[in-house]
Amino acid sequence: MNTAQNMPTLKHVVIIGGGIAGLSTAWYLQRYVQEQNVEIRYTVLEAESTWGGKVKTTYLENGTAQPYVVECGPDAFLTRKPWAAQLADELGLSNEKISVQPTAKRIYILNRGRLDPIPEGVHLLVPTDIRAFLRSSLFSWREKARILSEVFIPARKDETDESIEAFVKRRFGCAASQKLAEPLLAGIYNTDISCQSLLATFPHYRKLELQYGSLIRAMRHSMTLMKPSADKQTESAFFSFQGGTMRLVEGLASQLEGQLLLKTPVKEPLAYQQGQYLVSTSIGILSADAVIWATPAYVTAKFLVEVVPTATELLNKIRYEGIGTITLMYRREDIPHALDAYGVVVPSHENRNIDGMTWVTSKWTHRAPADQVMIRVFFGGPQTRSMLFVDDVELLNIVCRELNDILSIDSKPLTYHIDRWENGYPQYEVGHHLLIQAIKNALPPRIYIVGSAYDGVGVPDIIHGAQRCAMFCLEQLKENYYERASTY
Ligand SMILES: Cc1cc2nc3c(=O)[nH]c(=O)nc-3n(C[C@H](O)[C@H](O)[C@H](O)COP(=O)(O)OP(=O)(O)OC[C@H]3O[C@@H](n4cnc5c(N)ncnc54)[C@H](O)[C@@H]3O)c2cc1C
Repeated sequence: MNTAQNMPTLKHVVIIGGGIAGLSTAWYLQRYVQEQNVEIRYTVLEAESTWGGKVKTTYLENGTAQPYVVECGPDAFLTRKPWAAQLADELGLSNEKISVQPTAKRIYILNRGRLDPIPEGVHLLVPTDIRAFLRSSLFSWREKARILSEVFIPARKDETDESIEAFVKRRFGCAASQKLAEPLLAGIYNTDISCQSLLATFPHYRKLELQYGSLIRAMRHSMTLMKPSADKQTESAFFSFQGGTMRLVEGLASQLEGQLLLKTPVKEPLAYQQGQYLVSTSIGILSADAVIWATPAYVTAKFLVEVVPTATELLNKIRYEGIGTITLMYRREDIPHALDAYGVVVPSHENRNIDGMTWVTSKWTHRAPADQVMIRVFFGGPQTRSMLFVDDVELLNIVCRELNDILSIDSKPLTYHIDRWENGYPQYEVGHHLLIQAIKNALPPRIYIVGSAYDGVGVPDIIHGAQRCAMFCLEQLKENYYERASTY
């Protein structure tokens, strides 16, 4: 039954969730609608009193004209994935973008209580500059030999998924997994690599393995083929904004022309009646031609239970891990260490109470007065779960003890700020890509999902997903795609 002829001409899209996924989907929908001159209006519903979800910056007074700029969620957007930078440019924020400081361009790994730099010439997990790698103090000679013998390990030929841990151990050996992959990926994805999917995280690694028989060979080959231009060599790997990542959210919220409703949570499961979806919110029922769910997977699952129970079941399979951060401000003179890196990652076998730390004032300008330093410590991830539930005073004490042990800081911080995200990170477990495909296949026309649980947890990937989602939604509405799917 095509019920499109019964619809008012101005079709209504309801976007649920005002995090970066929901806001950027609204932005691209607005843009495509204007470009194509289509009659569509949209509403964004956000449960909280502010926009942005996990993209949140706090400004703390410090007695100077320049408050501390403290990130509560993300602090950096990957430049190599261009979608966040492009969005910033579209929003007119180009002049506010800042790059990471080049002077401190390295990361330390805690290794038996000592800080060893991540070996030079290692591209994420793969050694590409062998001479530089051989100089590394992180691995023993035996471990280095095992890592470099990767070129002789036969390629796995099938297309099934495996964990990152299994992949790294298989190709590079246990030391590479424990000392490099585990702390580095825990730092980036807040994950346990024994569960994290290779195909959802680094699909190109499997392709390179198949094509070249060895990742080292593949990466060295591609690096000789693609000599980076002078621009690329100096381009920073990450960017943010002078006023923090929140500027992206503020830029979006100020330029969206649809109906934007804060403090308006969806309350009841979605219903379907006569070709329209009925979204039950705290201020009443909204009728929608299409609904875009930009909420965490477990929230979306709860509200799809009546119209798509299969999707609910599948969405509930996406597990989340918590994460917390405590940002501490110190007088520079109180810090004995040079803080000559972006920070430290901490392997689980070091048995610490923290997962890692960012030396914020070494990484970014515009964060604290020049005579102070800002250190952001991460806790509560898969390796230190119980820390998420420790009270603030105890947390501060534990973190100060860790900072004393690792960096010999024995002064009290001038001030500090704590953030806890109980379900901070969706986990892309082995088979994730198939699970997401199954969820998308289960969704009926005009219901869409977007956000960190599906096609990438990083903000650039989420924005890319938002572009695709907005375009897909628009195309379906233009085609009067009103058939109910057989999956109901
Ligand atoms: C500590 C931390 C550090 C990070 N660091 C980085 C980094 O440096 N770089 C990077 O790229 N990424 C980073 N990430 C990941 C990235 O920030 C997140 O993946 C991303 O912000 C998630 O965006 P989202 O819109 O999908 O979800 P969310 O931000 O969770 O947004 C979902 C929104 O839905 C709303 N909502 C929930 N229920 C309802 C309801 N019933 N009705 C209406 N609205 C509802 C929520 O209030 C929320 O605003 C980090 C994440 C964390 C937690």
